[in-house]
Amino acid sequence: MAEIKINKIFDGTVFKAIREVIDFEGIEAYVIGGFVRDLLLGEPSKDIDVVVRGSGIKVAEKVAARLGNIKVSVFKNFGTAMFKFRDEEVEFVGARKESYQRDSRKPIVEDGTIEDDQNRRDFTINALAISLNKETFGQLIDPFNGEEDLKNGIIRTPLDPDITFSDDPLRMMRAIRFATRFNFRIDDATLEGIKKNKDRISIVSGERIVDELNKMMMAERPSIGFKLLEITGLLKIILPELQDMKGVEEKGGKRHKDNFYHTLAVLDRIVPNTDDLWLRWSAIFHDIAKPITKRYDEKLGWTFHAHNHIGQKMIPRIFKRMKFPMNEKMKFVQKMVYLHMRPIVLSEDIVSDSAVRRLLFDAGDDIDSLMTLCEADITSKNEDKVRRFMKNFRVVRTKLKEIEEKDRVRNFQPPVSGEDIMEAFGIGPCREIGDIKTAIKDAILDGIIENNREQAYELMLKLGKEKGLQADK
Ligand code: ATP
Repeated sequence: MAEIKINKIFDGTVFKAIREVIDFEGIEAYVIGGFVRDLLLGEPSKDIDVVVRGSGIKVAEKVAARLGNIKVSVFKNFGTAMFKFRDEEVEFVGARKESYQRDSRKPIVEDGTIEDDQNRRDFTINALAISLNKETFGQLIDPFNGEEDLKNGIIRTPLDPDITFSDDPLRMMRAIRFATRFNFRIDDATLEGIKKNKDRISIVSGERIVDELNKMMMAERPSIGFKLLEITGLLKIILPELQDMKGVEEKGGKRHKDNFYHTLAVLDRIVPNTDDLWLRWSAIFHDIAKPITKRYDEKLGWTFHAHNHIGQKMIPRIFKRMKFPMNEKMKFVQKMVYLHMRPIVLSEDIVSDSAVRRLLFDAGDDIDSLMTLCEADITSKNEDKVRRFMKNFRVVRTKLKEIEEKDRVRNFQPPVSGEDIMEAFGIGPCREIGDIKTAIKDAILDGIIENNREQAYELMLKLGKEKGLQADK
């Protein structure tokens, strides 16, 4: 391990203060877990976890006092304390020993040694500790060969995987999340442990599962995680709708594509183009209704009629069950699922102004996200085909820009309101008002009139007259 790198980091103000306090008090302390892992990977994090032999809370308070008058948040129940110093978040905990009961993720905790504390860690790469005491300063305490696993890119539990995952099944999700984030392999015995304990995921709250999935989604290649979820049997439990997409059927010599792998390819393709978590989830869900809309037709072959429409309807149920937020994020995903085929259809045809205007009207401010999804949806192995589609999408994007500048339908506001119509014809609320408004909107979207009040008002008068309404002078 590179001592120089570590010394440089440990010369920082926070570590200096910790060292001074523990040396003065004669307390054993280590920096442990994710910070050490990331440090060895060459990407030091701002989350510093310190484990001390004794009371973490007392040490935290003393270190904070030394750094100035910093506010310490104390969590008595957990025996932890943390403070923020500049952009670093430092958490202190007393070394502990844990034991578990069958029906809960909550362990029974006792005071312990640094070794006990390392034993309770989930993976060898997360159990690494570095001594902060004077005589042993900078020494790596690595009882499970975590450094080696880090070098070789392996996720492995320090103790028996079966017990590790049974004790706290959230660790199964964490294993997959770390494997995805670092592009590491899960060791065979550890993977077997997950397969064996998959049903234990039922004692983990939906929120915690979603939390892990969301972190996985933000990796460079989130497909790695979904493949692992599938292999281990977890996917079938937490997101069966995605599991159902796996597989290929053949009829009359015709095969459809494997929609599970297609979906994962779309997901990986969208990642470089967006950091928006919900657009990434839209990639996962865009074809979610394909399995239930799948039909075989002698003439047409495999069809997935209205899968966008049915897919959009499936989203609230899935979101509710998975404890995703049921708010405007969900509505956004629904919109993406519903509209995901529209730009493709457009790009296949001669792009007419009115079709572009309607797309702008329906997608509103989410038009760029929708285009990004559609571009990711082209996963063909045929490079010519991909090039052709991408070129057509560029045409669609240019056209979208031109038409938006001209017609401003992206955030469409009716140029003539219901009140205008009532006033013009001296009538109260009635069906005709809605009819006239819709006809005006359609006329604008179809390019029959321009999006301005003058032309809309003129059309309103004409439509009213046709309906036998008398304009008030
Ligand atoms: P990141 O913050 O980048 O997600 P991390 O490893 O710091 O990674 P945390 O969730 O902050 O993740 O956990 C800090 C440390 O606590 C881990 O490195 C690990 O040693 C330990 N840990 C966290 N959760 C568990 C768990 N469920 N079982 C065992 N050890 C855990």
